Parts: sequence; C-alpha cells; structure tokens
Amino acid sequence: MFDLKDLYQEVIIDHSKRPRHFGKLAGQNREAEGYNPLCGDRLTVELIVEDGIVKDAAFEGAGCAISTASASLMTDMVRGKTEAEAQALFRQFQSLVTRNDPPTEDELLELEKLAALAGVRAFPSRVKCATLAWHTLSAALDRRNAPVKTE
Ligand code: ZN
Repeated sequence: MFDLKDLYQEVIIDHSKRPRHFGKLAGQNREAEGYNPLCGDRLTVELIVEDGIVKDAAFEGAGCAISTASASLMTDMVRGKTEAEAQALFRQFQSLVTRNDPPTEDELLELEKLAALAGVRAFPSRVKCATLAWHTLSAALDRRNAPVKTE
C-alpha cells in the first residue's frame, strides 16, 4: 500500500542530505540571517529579486535535518514566484504548522513537497526548525536587516 508518511520521510531525508541551492548567490540583492536558539539552527538566505519576482534563491548555514530540508524546499519553491506569492506561501505554511486544525487534503496538495513538513505540527519544538528558513525569507523580502530570531 502507498504510504504517504514514508514518502514525506523520504523527501525530508533527501533534502537534508542533499540540500538544493546551498551556498552563496552571486549578484544577490536581498539577504537575511535567521537563528533558532531552541535547536541551534542558523542560516542565511540570499535572493535575487528583479521586477518583483524572486529570480533565484539560495541558503547557507548549519542546522538540523528539519531546518535544512525546509530551507532546501523553500529555495526550490520560491524561485519564479512574485514577492507577494512567496510571502503568501510563508504565511500559509506557518499557519498550517501552528494552528490547531489539521491541514486539509487541498492544502497539502497546494504545498506540494513542502507538505512533507506538515507533520512537525505535532512537535511544537520542531515547528521553529521548520519555519526558520521561511521567517528568514520573509525578512529578506521585506529588507529587514536585523537577524531573525525564532525566540
Ligand atoms: Zn532544528
């Protein structure tokens, strides 16, 4: 039988072991740092934003498997999106992992591979690992220069 949980597990392991878009981004024009003191995850998100569109995204840093997988999936997903779409995706994901109601099937479909991280909602201490890259993305888009802290 097809097991969605196994698939999600695979996505997280794959993206944490072989993170996409890891490293510096030449010509970046937006940057923010994020830190999750609860777990020790630390990362920098770099973006190239042109005409309101996220042309490219990359991240650097060190963190747990969840934070790395989330950053990897994030950089994959926001490329080609408008700034507003990227911010909306952040809010959608943030809401899904922090609210009480479980995600609907439609929401999980919309989040594509990011749905693999929906399971962290059952582990409040890991929610910050999963959302760190997204808070940092949001800060970079808003040109907030102070490092983002999840605490
Ligand atoms: Zn973590």
